[in-house]
This record gives sequence, C-alpha cells and structure tokens, in this order.
Amino acid sequence: MNILEIIAKKRDGMELSKEEIQYFIDEYIEDNITDYQAAALVMAIYINGMNERETTDLTLAMAYSGDVLDLSVLGNVIDKHSTGGVGDKITLILMPIIASFGIPSAKMSGRGLGFTGGTIDKLESIPGYNTQINVETFIENVKNVGISIMGQTLNLAPADKKLYALRDTISCTESIPLIASSIMSKKIAAGANKIVLDVTCGSGAFMKNKEDAQKLADIMMKIGELSGRKTVCAITDMNQPVGYSVGNTLEVIEAVDILKGKYMPTDVEHIITELGANMLLLADKAVSIDDGKAKILENIKNGKAYEKLLQLVQNQGGDISYIEDTEKFEKAKYIVEIRAKKSGKVTKLDAYKIGNLSNYLGAGRVKKENSINPRVGFIFSKKVGDTVEQNEVLGYIHSDDEEKAKYVLSQELFEIS
Ligand code: URA
Repeated sequence: MNILEIIAKKRDGMELSKEEIQYFIDEYIEDNITDYQAAALVMAIYINGMNERETTDLTLAMAYSGDVLDLSVLGNVIDKHSTGGVGDKITLILMPIIASFGIPSAKMSGRGLGFTGGTIDKLESIPGYNTQINVETFIENVKNVGISIMGQTLNLAPADKKLYALRDTISCTESIPLIASSIMSKKIAAGANKIVLDVTCGSGAFMKNKEDAQKLADIMMKIGELSGRKTVCAITDMNQPVGYSVGNTLEVIEAVDILKGKYMPTDVEHIITELGANMLLLADKAVSIDDGKAKILENIKNGKAYEKLLQLVQNQGGDISYIEDTEKFEKAKYIVEIRAKKSGKVTKLDAYKIGNLSNYLGAGRVKKENSINPRVGFIFSKKVGDTVEQNEVLGYIHSDDEEKAKYVLSQELFEIS
C-alpha cells in the first residue's frame, strides 16, 4: 500500500478501503506522509466525498489515534456537543441541569477558535476555576458532585488535531464527511456511550443551510450507531447569536442569570429543552420529549440546576461568590450604547459578523496561542423580530479600547426594516 495510490483512488472518485484509511491515519501521525500529500487526499475527499462506511472508518481510525478515555466507572455518561456558534453558552446552562437529575455529567470542552466561542474560555473567566485538571480528578469530581467540565488535557484524537489544522489552511473545513469524522472521533475518544449533538445551522455555523445540517446530522447519527454509541441530533438556528450576550464573562453572567431563573431568552429555551429532553430520554429520566422538556424547565424553576452550577464551580476551585453576585465580575472600561438609526423591525443580527467583531474586541483568538480578554463583547437588548423605535438602545458594546469600540459602533450591527 502506498499513499500515492490512495490519493489517486480518491482523486478518481473511488471508494477507499478500511485498511487504506487506517494506513493513511497511522502514517500521517507518524510524519511518514507529508502535509502536501495529506492535503491532496483531503482535497480529493472534499471534492468527491466519502460514503457512510468510509466516513465511519475514518472516524474510528482518528478516534483511536491517541488516548481513549474509559468512563464506564461512572455508568451511563451522556455527552453533549455543539458544532459551534456565537454566544453559545448552552453547555454552561444545560450540563448543570442534566447533572441535577443525577445523570453523570462528565464533559471535555474546547476553546474558541475563529469566530466561534469555546466553553473552556468562558469557564476560565470565573476566578479560580481550574479547567486543566487530570482525568482522575475529573472522574472523582463526577463521582462526588455529579458534574465536571474540563479542558482537553489528554492526547485525544491527535490525528484529528493534525488534520483539522491542515483543513483550516487549505479551505477544506466545510466538508460533511470531514466535519462528521472530526467531531465523532473526539466524542468517541472522550468516552461517552450516548451522545446528543447540537447541529447549528446559519451564518454563524459551519452548515449554512438546513439541507446540509440535516445531512451532517444523519451521518453523525449513523457513525454513532455503527460505533455502538447511541447518538441523537437536534438542528438549531445560528443566524443570530444565542441569547443576549456574546463574550466570555458576559456569557457566564447570562448563563448564571438563566439558571437563577431571572429570565429565559426564547432561543435558549428552545435549544436547552430540545437537547435536554433527548438527554433525559437517553438516560430513562423522561417518558417522552414533552415530558423531558417540562422537566428541564422545572429543574431551573426549583433551583436544583443552579445548585449544581455552584457545586461544579466550587469543586473545581472557582470562587462561587462571583456566581452568587455576578456584579463582582470585572467590567470592560468602555460600555457603549448601540442605538437604532430608525424605527421598524429587526430583520438581521448577523452571528458571523458579531462573532468576528467580538474577536476584534479581544474576546476570541485568531491563533491558538493568543490570549483572550474575558471582559469584552456585546450585550444585546433586541433580537430579530423585535420592533424598535428610532434612537432606542439595541444593546451595548463592552470594550477595553475606545477606538475599537468606535469602530464596532460604526458597523451596521442590526438590520432594521
Ligand atoms: N468542529 C469540529 O470539531 N470539527 C470540525 O470539523 C468542525 C467543527
């Protein structure tokens, strides 16, 4: 077997065997296949696609290319994963809710990259919260309080790490078999035996339309089934940011307020009830989707989910006084009002644009090694569908740099007609 034959086969639209896929992954992580050869193969996959069997073989080869976590001591662990978005603080809200039903909640999360945010960056804006714990502590925490959220300190799916970085540099990110295998390889390596996936769809997501989002969902469910992990997908809207806040501390505050029952944005309610009900069903804690949705909201109302959040933060070294009183979080230097230029209905608040501007303010990183500013971002008062009066406040820009705030304000953030 050699890489030239494998590239030529895929270039000519043929199917690759399990052995050929395994050979490619094994040799690529050993640096016996060069980046330009891997790039040629990835581009051929991007153009000619892969069938279900090939995509599953690629997923498993990547999943077992490094450490594979065994969480069986915790029982039935249900993992949740989003395909990425802007203002996506769902993990911070949903995992404590799920844990409050006694379902072991062991989650490894990532950092933000590009225009999308990451749960680990958000959690690290809580003073003291330690995301870099070892796996033994992670498992111990779940045993003790039912929940732990940590960063990826293990060498999980290193082949995906290498291939993902390569795809990013050769315009091969938005490919359904490549995204499906990338996500599912990490989920399998992270040890969950049941998986609920939030497949985001819209301008702020990798899948820009419903048809592609459904295709991605279908193949990931199939991979789950073929690899013995029950997988459920919900397709959710990512045309505008999720909830009212974007930025690390600002999103933590919103998640805390939601768990305290202060308010509930319509889109957040939709996502947490859709995903949460499926998770409760998988754990036999609900008899139907409707029953599950009601239970999810009930554990916010009765304070059980908020209690779990406090336990999660405390157990991981975080200062819970910031959660009890979110006014304690340090604010950005400049908080600038965004006002409506005319009266009418908000027709667009583009997630992609907001994600990029939020990064420009310092909330995200362009390169993995960049540091982030936890304080900056946006708080919106209005979203798509709301009617507004001319000069009414639509939201606030939080910035540590006056010039950057001015630049962001000069952009057309809201479309009103
Ligand atoms: N998230 C991933 O982990 N991989 C992709 O390819 C896209 C989104």
